[in-house]
Amino acid sequence: MEEDLKRTVEFHGHMCPGLAIGYRVAKYVMNHYRRSEDEELVAVVENNSCSVDAIQEMLGCTFGKGNLIFVDNGKQVFTFYHRGDGKAIRIYFRDEILQEIFGAGRGEEARSKAMEAILSAPEESILSVREVDITEPPRARIYPSLRCQECGESFMEIRGRLVNGKIVCKECFSRLT
Ligand SMILES: [Zn+2]
Ligand SMILES: [Zn+2]
Repeated sequence: MEEDLKRTVEFHGHMCPGLAIGYRVAKYVMNHYRRSEDEELVAVVENNSCSVDAIQEMLGCTFGKGNLIFVDNGKQVFTFYHRGDGKAIRIYFRDEILQEIFGAGRGEEARSKAMEAILSAPEESILSVREVDITEPPRARIYPSLRCQECGESFMEIRGRLVNGKIVCKECFSRLT
């Protein structure tokens, strides 16, 4: 197993077909598009499955840094935007090879066949890549804190709610209403 794949498996906790998908996508980005030494690279991922862990580990696009944006479309689509030049590429994982393998069942054997197929397939047969024009994803912002007048915990100001004249956090809001 390649060193970088090993590290990704360690980060994710197991090897699986989804992680293999993310690995191939991240590899493509590193080899043909950008490396992300900085936080200039933003990943917009359209699913929140195993594949995204490879994107985080290999490309440094993480939730905590604010350069990982999740759009819940349930698709294996990954768009990478570079703040430096405003260019973006969109990568769609073509799952034709999986349909064939999983058509016969989803057991252990099928899963390992799928992983092998994903890892060894030529890039152009599994990744459909094109340049796209997208508006710049907003940068992570720091907001002032407020103290919840119900639980006393502090929270991000723009997440506040008003209940019976009290400013409360969203957690208390959902409990009180
Ligand atoms: Zn997994
Ligand atoms: Zn509260």
